Amino acid sequence: MKLTSSEIEKKRSENIKEISNTHFDALVVGGGINGAVSTLALRSRGVNVALFEKNDFASGVSQESSNLVWGGFKYLESYELKLVMELCHSRNRLARAYPSRLVEKRFLAALDSSSPFAPWFAALGANAYWGIGQFATKRPRYRSPRTIKRLEPSVRADNLIGGIEYSDHLIVENDSRFVIQMIVDAAERGASVSNYMTVLEADYLKKRWHLKVKDEILDQEFETTSDVLVNTAGPQVSEICNMSNTKTESNLVFSKGVHLIVPRVTDSGRILAFFDETKRLFYVIPMGECSVIGTTDERVKQHEVSVSSDDIDFLLKEANTKLSLSKPLNAQDVIAQRVGVRPLVIPKGGVDQDKDWTELSRRHEVETNRRYRMISVLGGKLSDCLNVGEEVVSSLEDLGYKTSKPTNRWYGEPSGAEKSIFFHAAKKNGIEEDVIKELWRRHGSRSFDVIENISNDPRSAEKLSENIDYCLAEISVMKKHEFIYDSEDLLRRRTLIGQTVPRSQLEKDSGFAALIEHLKK
Ligand SMILES: Cc1cc2nc3c(=O)[nH]c(=O)nc-3n(C[C@H](O)[C@H](O)[C@H](O)COP(=O)(O)OP(=O)(O)OC[C@H]3O[C@@H](n4cnc5c(N)ncnc54)[C@H](O)[C@@H]3O)c2cc1C
Repeated sequence: MKLTSSEIEKKRSENIKEISNTHFDALVVGGGINGAVSTLALRSRGVNVALFEKNDFASGVSQESSNLVWGGFKYLESYELKLVMELCHSRNRLARAYPSRLVEKRFLAALDSSSPFAPWFAALGANAYWGIGQFATKRPRYRSPRTIKRLEPSVRADNLIGGIEYSDHLIVENDSRFVIQMIVDAAERGASVSNYMTVLEADYLKKRWHLKVKDEILDQEFETTSDVLVNTAGPQVSEICNMSNTKTESNLVFSKGVHLIVPRVTDSGRILAFFDETKRLFYVIPMGECSVIGTTDERVKQHEVSVSSDDIDFLLKEANTKLSLSKPLNAQDVIAQRVGVRPLVIPKGGVDQDKDWTELSRRHEVETNRRYRMISVLGGKLSDCLNVGEEVVSSLEDLGYKTSKPTNRWYGEPSGAEKSIFFHAAKKNGIEEDVIKELWRRHGSRSFDVIENISNDPRSAEKLSENIDYCLAEISVMKKHEFIYDSEDLLRRRTLIGQTVPRSQLEKDSGFAALIEHLKK
């Protein structure tokens, strides 16, 4: 449901006026993780930067991931040691910088007689992975079939030959919320960020980029200029190249991945991992009160994809084969679906061969086109985002830009001192410890505004309902700071509500009605 009002229209008109009257150092096209991290990294170095996203922020592939921040254990299989080292390093930096938004999770990989590895070999790999990851997580452990059965009764015991437990990280709230928080942080540091703004044309004339942009909410076109163009359009990188008459040296191919969200499979908090019938890893991942099962990996030609009945049948069959549930999962159990394409890079000179596409490196490429002063990001992961941000800054410097060194770490949650002040203030307001932690994780520095709302109106602290684990004091803050123009922006990308509560249930929920009413105000 669209949430337009005269106030929103006025704000967007003023935004257009400001953007079209400014010549920017850099314009970023695409508000997924790569656009978010590039904008934050550039702005933190004093670059005058604007970001345009044609739909909502993080509504592309960055809302369809497995929510994992990981070091790429599975790439050890293809001996991509350098990639695993880089990913582990990036994972560790992210985990240290976002201690409440990311949580270390135990993965239990249960192996049976059809698995491609024996448990001793998997244990060797897990220990190597732990070492490559600088021992930053809990130690991996071998698990016998009996122990697996005791720890995870939902895992099917017949055929089990053992397993391993190891750690990586999970984004607690949602991949898209993680991205949007980064964009809001960039905006608070002075970046100009706009969702629902499509870049229609990009021309390089007299050493300047001239962009024609359309505000999709006001249905209004305008122009703006910059020295450098940063192309972070994800799977649509080549479309931006076509419109700007440029080319990248590397290319992308796409692999479709589907996840299904179902009622919770295990209460342990662990991530369960199995090999599916194609010998690919298959996960059961916690998401709020639910579990996410997936994923598929299918080569596709187009980036627009949807979930087919074959995808659903495949995932449910795999889950039912590996799990022993009181009632097997069926299509009626599916609460929501996620589908997107992994943008995989074929580096310069590489050939797109269908047969070995699964072996393509999952590393990103940041390319600089000096002639046209354009930086393009191809591929990339949430897990590797800090490297992308820093490489984009280096590319800008290569183009002759002097950037200023950030005074503080350019990424991450607010400081420990700020956190202590918030915890103290929240306790004084009578808020319970668990809720304080949740508010901090969800809103960071903006949690202070939440408690201010609560002290102005104590009733705004009440959770909206059993299904909706948010209070109006939070929704007000999100509405003010998080660029929400449609109820789906909040339900699907800023919270887990839209994916973990069946629509039919939401529609009968009085808390949901109150939430929508509040958004429309
Ligand atoms: C099934 C699956 C599971 C995954 N799991 C993980 C995981 O667990 N961990 C991990 O780290 N990574 C994972 N990934 C990879 C990761 O999600 C993606 O590589 C990453 O999100 C890509 O981000 P992006 O910013 O490049 O693209 P996107 O998020 O797609 O962003 C590009 C944006 O550009 C916008 N855009 C395009 N054209 C224009 C235009 N003309 N004007 C304005 N905006 C425009 C689009 O609307 C889009 O929002 C997974 C991917 C898939 C598909």
